[in-house]
Amino acid sequence: MDDLRIRDIVIVGGGTAGWMAAAALSRTLAGGGLRIRLIESEAIGTVGVGEATIPHIQYFNRLLGLDEDEFVRRTAATFKLGIEFVDWGRIGERYIHPFGSYGQEMEGIHFHHFWYRQAQAGRGLPLDRYSLAVAAAQAGKFQRPEPNRRGSPLADISYAFQFDAALYARYLREKAEAAGVRRSEGRIVEVQRDGASGNVSAVVLDDGTSIAGDLFIDCSGFRGLLIEGALQSGYEDWSHWLPCDRAVARPSRRIEDPLPYTRATARKAGWQWRIPLQSRTGNGHVYCSRYISDDEAVAILDANLEGEPLAGPNFLRFTAGVRRKAWDRNVVALGLAAGFLEPLESTSIHLIQTGIARLLTNFPDKRFNQHDIDYFNRRTRLEYEQVRDFLILHYKATERDDSGFWDHCRTMAIPSSLEERIAIFRENARLFRHDNELFSETSWLAVLHGQNIEPARHHPIAGYLTDAELDARLARIAGAMKASVEIMPRHQQFIDRHCRSETP
Ligand SMILES: Cc1cc2nc3c(=O)[nH]c(=O)nc-3n(C[C@H](O)[C@H](O)[C@H](O)COP(=O)(O)OP(=O)(O)OC[C@H]3O[C@@H](n4cnc5c(N)ncnc54)[C@H](O)[C@@H]3O)c2cc1C
Repeated sequence: MDDLRIRDIVIVGGGTAGWMAAAALSRTLAGGGLRIRLIESEAIGTVGVGEATIPHIQYFNRLLGLDEDEFVRRTAATFKLGIEFVDWGRIGERYIHPFGSYGQEMEGIHFHHFWYRQAQAGRGLPLDRYSLAVAAAQAGKFQRPEPNRRGSPLADISYAFQFDAALYARYLREKAEAAGVRRSEGRIVEVQRDGASGNVSAVVLDDGTSIAGDLFIDCSGFRGLLIEGALQSGYEDWSHWLPCDRAVARPSRRIEDPLPYTRATARKAGWQWRIPLQSRTGNGHVYCSRYISDDEAVAILDANLEGEPLAGPNFLRFTAGVRRKAWDRNVVALGLAAGFLEPLESTSIHLIQTGIARLLTNFPDKRFNQHDIDYFNRRTRLEYEQVRDFLILHYKATERDDSGFWDHCRTMAIPSSLEERIAIFRENARLFRHDNELFSETSWLAVLHGQNIEPARHHPIAGYLTDAELDARLARIAGAMKASVEIMPRHQQFIDRHCRSETP
């Protein structure tokens, strides 16, 4: 009988997606007799951005067996407790979308219903006072969770990382090559296909080398060399909902101890990120070219840098959307080749990670079962749609009317899935996490409340406690949060103690 097992995997591209795929596949499929090759072109380079993550990256690190302190040191990383949004709902306002949750569930329902009951009666503290992540971020503090402190907010601290994308790719490359991945340098100039099946059979480099494979992973970035260039899988454009189509990035010198959170400040036609690393600060301005020019975008960025710029501006162009088929025939697209959702909630690296996990779950043999492929594509699309809706909320939930861009966002039609979610929340504060989606009730609440969408009522079950009992419970929770933050070390202190980077 023919051996139908996949023997040769070819990864096209050595950006974050390519090296994440190489590191993960070489580790999980080790010993299976597979050959994994990665092709990249230094002449083409990588996008060189992508520095803020979400807590799920810890699962990926565990899959690779990384030592977290070493990972932080090697990538000049800092810890991240959430994202601060400045000037989104109204100019002059700010809020933090924290990792972790607010307060604690009571009577089987989410904490925020109790908080709304108290707030709607004109009593109580701001919602932020019930989030350890917000309080710690504002105080510039960080520590890892202490699971043994049962009942303490310190038992359950959710965190992610902010790291240098180039160092991250280099670090993963080292791991992948040590696990047997072979790297080829060169520019792919031709993609060859099998006449009978239509599958990609080989790629040809500019020096004439031909590299054949059974399974191709397209990590070639926005160009989607195989998935679009060769197979023309199609791209669904979502720019009518997410109109920003350019970014300009520029790192700057760090002027203070790094803060344990990312900042996203809304500007007149987009927003600016600030990502503190151990070695420098990452900055960039995501904007909509219909409303401002590149020159104006870079001027706004430069005017708002906190330290001296360390490199020239790096301009990037994109279209929000998703590949119609992230998996087509024997090609699976990951990273920017699979779709693009702007980095407002730091989701792209996560989407690479879930793409890899989904590929492993549906790992094919040479028959490439179409049902598996269809399932992979359906799940990929759903995941992108769920993230898309959450991003659109940030633009839609605004009262800003100071520019054509914000007038467009405030008044634009939104997907019915998002419309329904907002309507349910406005009624009685109910939030649902659909189909194991990435963003939890905490995330939705943070942005809805942070951008002034408020419910008329709360869950009826929150109405059964007496006022005195409600006040006492909430005061206890807020007290525990405050006491916990007081004993946490400063973020820089924690880094110095455990994982200080040597990168200048
Ligand atoms: C402005 C901006 C900010 C972002 N910020 C974040 C963030 O904070 N958090 C986050 O999670 N994500 C972020 N992202 C997304 C993140 O940068 C990407 O998901 C990540 O870098 C993966 O990129 P990639 O590997 O798919 O593509 P790329 O980095 O573009 O790599 C493509 C690879 O393909 C190779 N290649 C292409 N064509 C050929 C060819 N013909 N021959 C040989 N090799 C070829 C290139 O040499 C390169 O190695 C951001 C993206 C942008 C645009």
